[in-house]
Amino acid sequence: MKIETIAIHAGNHTDKSTGAVVQPLVQSTTFERNKDGGFTSGYSYSRAANPNRTALETVLAKLEQGVDAAAFSSGNAAGMAVFQSLQPGTHIIAPDDMYHGLRNQLKTLFAGILEFDFIDINNQEVLNAHIKPNTGLMWIETPSNPLLKVTDIKKVVGIAHAKGIKVVCDNTFATPVCQLPILLGADMVMHSSTKYFGGHSDLTGGVLITAEDNDWWRKIHTIQEMGGAIPSPFDCYMLVRSLKTLPYRMRGHINNAQLLTEFLSVHPKVEQVLYPGLPLHPQYEIAKDQMLAFGGMFSFCLKGGEAEAKRVINALKLFTRATSLGGVESLIEHRASVEGPDTKTPFNLLRVSAGLEHIDDLIDDLQQALG
Ligand code: PLP
Repeated sequence: MKIETIAIHAGNHTDKSTGAVVQPLVQSTTFERNKDGGFTSGYSYSRAANPNRTALETVLAKLEQGVDAAAFSSGNAAGMAVFQSLQPGTHIIAPDDMYHGLRNQLKTLFAGILEFDFIDINNQEVLNAHIKPNTGLMWIETPSNPLLKVTDIKKVVGIAHAKGIKVVCDNTFATPVCQLPILLGADMVMHSSTKYFGGHSDLTGGVLITAEDNDWWRKIHTIQEMGGAIPSPFDCYMLVRSLKTLPYRMRGHINNAQLLTEFLSVHPKVEQVLYPGLPLHPQYEIAKDQMLAFGGMFSFCLKGGEAEAKRVINALKLFTRATSLGGVESLIEHRASVEGPDTKTPFNLLRVSAGLEHIDDLIDDLQQALG
């Protein structure tokens, strides 16, 4: 089945007892056992499993072409489950441009427990030079946050698997509408569901999807159940609801991002536009090859430095000045300020999440703000 059909049907089942077309929300934390102590429904306690979470995990596994999914209370909790699943002393290779919250998580919470290097993962020589006997994981994020760097998933997987190293791909910016890392060889996919999956800037969540049911995956499940960083039934219900429109929402985000970046790339006040859908993007050919579409996120750098970037962001009327992404409303942020003192992001860079407003209104707003 095609992604539009999977998104609507894979996570939902009509309720047999009432005929309700939409699967009901089950808030109950506990489930009645049989007289023999068993539980034929498969549910005993909501931290271990809940019908709304099962529905969410079912649809997410199918959307990403994996065999199973585990939902978490945030994207960072999903990432943390991966890091917690590794043997202490494992070395991780991660990209130099990576969501700062997860990079900081590694540096703050896993210092002394795991080893890590943040490198230009697309550079084969650099990548090979950093592989050590204890390297157990290559973490990919593509397109990356906030520089929209594209990593060649197949190439990294080839190098990693030849040495028995696992590959996890953060697919948050792309979504399965634009990119299917498992089909390109990744072992696991990670998402912040807070973004396009939720799609309305009103819930926090994360997910891991696996290509294979193996010992590593069972350990992830144990971390989910015992660690308890699970999403509430209501958030799972909301996510299943939002995912039904993901493919159609993504078309709007992608279309608006493409047109906005084309407008910005010829604007005299703009120094550079970072979007994988522009032929000038340094990894355009890789993006064209591995992506089904280029996504709704982009960044652009202003001539005139930080002061000009801050002037423009404050002159916008329709774009909302806020972090995060993937909602229906267009968001813009001065990324270096959000990332804090250790940022490597250029100070003249603004990051944009293209929303679903009419493109003419978005371009008019940018036009007036750029002046
Ligand atoms: N990965 C990426 C690419 C992100 O942009 C984010 C959040 O912005 C995360 C992971 C973390 O997700 P969450 O904020 O849901 O914990």
